Amino acid sequence: MIGYTGAFARRVAAVRARAAHLGLDGLLITHLANIRYLSGFSGSNAGLLLDGDRAIFATDARYEERATRELTAGECELIIVRNGLLGELAKRAADAHAGGKVGFEGSHLSYSDWKELSERAGSVEWESASDVVEELRAVKDEDEQAAIEEAAAIAGRALEETLEMARPGVSERDIAAELDYRMARAGAEGPAFETIVAAGSRSALPHAQASENKLSEGDLLLVDFGARWNGYCSDITRTFVLGSPSQRQVEVYQAVLEAQEAAAAALAEGIPASRVDAAAREVLARRDLGGQFPHSTGHGLGLEVHEGPRLHTRSEERLRRNMVVTVEPGLYFHGWGGVRIEDDLVIGSGGARSLVKLPKAQLQSLPL
Ligand code: ZN
Ligand code: ZN
Repeated sequence: MIGYTGAFARRVAAVRARAAHLGLDGLLITHLANIRYLSGFSGSNAGLLLDGDRAIFATDARYEERATRELTAGECELIIVRNGLLGELAKRAADAHAGGKVGFEGSHLSYSDWKELSERAGSVEWESASDVVEELRAVKDEDEQAAIEEAAAIAGRALEETLEMARPGVSERDIAAELDYRMARAGAEGPAFETIVAAGSRSALPHAQASENKLSEGDLLLVDFGARWNGYCSDITRTFVLGSPSQRQVEVYQAVLEAQEAAAAALAEGIPASRVDAAAREVLARRDLGGQFPHSTGHGLGLEVHEGPRLHTRSEERLRRNMVVTVEPGLYFHGWGGVRIEDDLVIGSGGARSLVKLPKAQLQSLPL
């Protein structure tokens, strides 16, 4: 990894301080996105034990070479565990902190993993300490913002190339496959999540899977997609029409756009996240369309495609500067179709900046 060394040290120090504040002698981190955030390790099996001044990083033999390359020199003690990685870290925690309290990520642990921790506890008391790392991750540093911006740029270019093939007779799955391929060719590590392409009445399904359904003239075409770059995700939605739009399609699109822009304009540091959700809902309620918007307005975005903060009706979480969030209201009419518009935005001191450069000012008509 390049340019991240100082950031890892800062993040580990912040986690240590937070764990100490919670009265913990150590913290066992098992969630892979959190491990990547704190160490740079990009493999699929690892555990990280942090305490006052030590960091023990455990992985298996498949990842020895990768761990040696990716971990910041001097930050971690690397151990290779043949099997029972969690048990080994639990044992080390128990040995080092006999009679003390060690935190673990309760919301990311399976029951069998919990049993393994319990069996190796010795005189250590395990305490569930979820969200310690997630809270830090919600605020992005400059490198992270740049990575998300690059992931959005890659996805945007790939979509523009892919739209050239969108015409009647082409299936949703063909478009999704082409878009994934174009993102990979443009430098993505892969899609950030399973690409959604939904045409015609299927666009009314907020989480439609791309199917064999073929595009027809007059269809709405909803594409929800993102690229992963350097570990970071983008998450974008655009809705198009094949050929000339109907009056109703234009009206629904304009309503969603107005809601999306109102929510984006509401983003500000210090306000509760629910206020952003309310800004979108007010626009739709004024047009008597509130009942057609069944999901939350947005979510945080980073190493995972869904992370804090959540922008929903009851979210009391306060927005902070340098959080990156999606804003993605939609309207869905069973049997007719749906429209969603989604951008990724960084919250700054004087409002938010969009990382997505794709146009959205009107319902874009694709040539037949
Ligand atoms: Zn999305
Ligand atoms: Zn999203």
